[in-house]
Amino acid sequence: MTFQESAHIALQDTQLRHNIGNATRAIRAKRNHVVAELPDWQELREAGRALKERVLRHLDHYLVQFEQAVQGNGGHVHWARDAAEANRVVVELVRATGVDEVVKSKSLTTEETRLNEALEENGIRPRETDLAQLIIQLGRDKPSHVLVPAIHKNRAEIRELFKRELGIEDLSDDPAELAEAARRHLRDRFLHARVGISGGNFGVAETGTIALFESEGNGRMCTTLPDTLITVLGIEKLIPTWQDFEVYLQLLPRSSTAERMNPYNSFWTGVHEGDGPREFHLVLVDNGRTNVLADEIGRQALNCIRCSACMNFCPVYERTGGHAYNSVYPGPIGAILTPQLEGLDRAGSLPYASSLCGACYDACPVKIDIPQVLVHLRREVVKSEGLDPEHAAMRAMANVFSSRRRYELAQRLARAGQWPLARHGVIQHLPGALSGWTATRDMLPVPKQSFRDWWRQR
Ligand code: SF4
Repeated sequence: MTFQESAHIALQDTQLRHNIGNATRAIRAKRNHVVAELPDWQELREAGRALKERVLRHLDHYLVQFEQAVQGNGGHVHWARDAAEANRVVVELVRATGVDEVVKSKSLTTEETRLNEALEENGIRPRETDLAQLIIQLGRDKPSHVLVPAIHKNRAEIRELFKRELGIEDLSDDPAELAEAARRHLRDRFLHARVGISGGNFGVAETGTIALFESEGNGRMCTTLPDTLITVLGIEKLIPTWQDFEVYLQLLPRSSTAERMNPYNSFWTGVHEGDGPREFHLVLVDNGRTNVLADEIGRQALNCIRCSACMNFCPVYERTGGHAYNSVYPGPIGAILTPQLEGLDRAGSLPYASSLCGACYDACPVKIDIPQVLVHLRREVVKSEGLDPEHAAMRAMANVFSSRRRYELAQRLARAGQWPLARHGVIQHLPGALSGWTATRDMLPVPKQSFRDWWRQR
């Protein structure tokens, strides 16, 4: 289904629009407040962008440095060219431990590779432990936001879900009570888990450290309690040095959860006697990223630190919600990343999921010029589709607009041809292929006298 078709369906759901509108409005106001506290916000954005661009320019070097550092600290590194390979590696690692259940912290990369489905097909039960991911898993739903995957659900809906799926009779829709119910459900799972699977926000090339920033503490439980930890990371997630956290720890929490600092910041580097997991595996996933890297304009999408600010500020996302994008990455970042990862033939409608207002660019903490990439991808879509009627019409228009003589002739013809269509100073219905233009708007007729004619007469 194209974005336009899915959006059309989503727009009929008034409850969804209400839920998402409320949530994004609240987070925008909070985020603007905490960002305004930093006088050097623009310099920080610039530093965030420059560091990420350096990583992409020298990705081969930083990846090897990172791999060596992880191995030097007793970790095992696995490389996965695509989703199938990444899932195969993880399934084999879990199987080797002999367990049939794993605990998971939120990880977009494993959503991208559809790891949960692969684990289930192999008889391994994945237990999501992030509250919103748990809601999605219990409801057999799909995430609709990068940071708040269940943003489309309100608390009454969550209460009903918990009562049904967790068998809790007496439960109010108070957020604290809902969180407590989830906590009770998860505690036992954490204590018995022997394998944890996590994502990560950053990998530090210099030290081989992986960083995970979160609000609930479930990620920390997943990465410290089990004997075996498997971390799945996209290859673009690297930063050069430990000191670079100085930049990203100011940019990320403020942009994502509108907090000055994340409540839980976990860092792990290989394995350590008597502390944390006894075995650590890192799966580095490409899955189309090196193709994105080859595109000089499109590669900016790999700078993304998954803060979700672009979705919270996007007027299109606010009305359609995340499901309309049919992508793990919804909103403006999804509109530029997914078509590049999955191909224009599968996701070519996404670059059109934008009003090109530029709000996403202003919000992005690492200054990804999303509108520029959207226009670039639209050009690629048009090129790949060859000459269609719209393209032919645009070329004819370009031909008319490039010559004053042709332009004035077209104006005279339009003036003469419009009289049966204009009523009370507006054209409400254009005929044939042009009718789409007036389906949702009126059009003003060509004036009786153009400015040029008026000027010539004086
Ligand atoms: S594109 Fe920018 S604003 Fe959007 S999620 Fe990525 S880093 Fe955040």
